[in-house]
Amino acid sequence: MIIILKPDLGPDSAEASAIVALATRFPNITAKVYAHQGASHALTEVHLVGETKAIPTEIFAEQPYVVRVVRVSEKYRLLGRHEAQVEALGFEYRGVRFGQDTLHVFPGLCAVDDRENVDATMRAIAASGLTTCRMGAYKPRTSPYDFQGHGKACLPYVFELAAKHGIRVIAMEILREQHLDEIREALRAAGDATGVMLQIGTRNAQNFELLKTVGQQSEFPVLYKRGMGNSLEEALNACEYIASEGNRQIVFCLRGVKSQIASPHRNFIDFSHVPVVKRLTRLPVCVDPSHSAGRRAESPDGITEIHHATAEGVILGANMVLVDFHPTPARAMCDGPQALTLEELPGYLEDVALVRETYVKRVARARA
Ligand code: PEP
Ligand code: MN
Repeated sequence: MIIILKPDLGPDSAEASAIVALATRFPNITAKVYAHQGASHALTEVHLVGETKAIPTEIFAEQPYVVRVVRVSEKYRLLGRHEAQVEALGFEYRGVRFGQDTLHVFPGLCAVDDRENVDATMRAIAASGLTTCRMGAYKPRTSPYDFQGHGKACLPYVFELAAKHGIRVIAMEILREQHLDEIREALRAAGDATGVMLQIGTRNAQNFELLKTVGQQSEFPVLYKRGMGNSLEEALNACEYIASEGNRQIVFCLRGVKSQIASPHRNFIDFSHVPVVKRLTRLPVCVDPSHSAGRRAESPDGITEIHHATAEGVILGANMVLVDFHPTPARAMCDGPQALTLEELPGYLEDVALVRETYVKRVARARA
């Protein structure tokens, strides 16, 4: 059961406490207060978990400071689209707005290799008019003998160069809580000149302790990547872990699922789930065409499979694209075969804009 308070009442208000006190009258009920800063307004909700079927909604609904009381199914109670929660869960971070209606491209290095390549990549991104990028510092590799990423050693120049090129948000994967602390510390040292979206990679998609960790802070938004072997339901439940700890600034990312039938792609492209995630939840949805297709092979039509996969996501309404670029893919220390070159970036963005325009027209036609 979700009790929604009037917009001007905060999570520490006497009214929120009064609702929690009312709830304690009933046995086997846990009450938790949630505050959420949405794109349009701040919201305080009291969630009751447990034997709520026995509780009449009227006892809460009749309070003058309660807007609405909703019974929700146990599934995706925070992220799902329930009767009174039809508004999409957008958020703004570092001046960049994320929602089910926006689109941002995050091109960049799968793995940071050296300062020169970060500089060249960010320069190209800024020249294309973007303020968002991806930069992998901590790399989860299949073999312990492969390059593991420069970790915290590269953070000072990554953040310094982001400031130089006007990059506002960097998507960066973390593998453990310590990495979050290292990022926070390096950002402070760099004068807080940029922002980081914490990426939870496919390998940690059900690492519930790590999910709780990123959920317990709200300084950084989270890019949650679906587990490569997880059903959509498992992935959305995992996302709910982040939200249930208090952080609802989440973007859900599709990155392909592991299957023999995906071959010759690295993963079976699951972008047809973009509208499904938008229907089941209120989260903005990202697609990662690089880790899905896994190769930049060119079709006979002259379009690479990365471009084609991107178009697939964007035409279905994706809100974010995470995509690998590298100054010299052949020399990349991680995932070179799937990286596009910096020279290809302007054309790539034109292609995205073309598809997005068509999507927007399709939406307008459907609504007319
Ligand atoms: C990545 O984006 O760098 C990455 C490792 O992706 P995934 O977790 O989807 O494999
Ligand atoms: Mn990669």
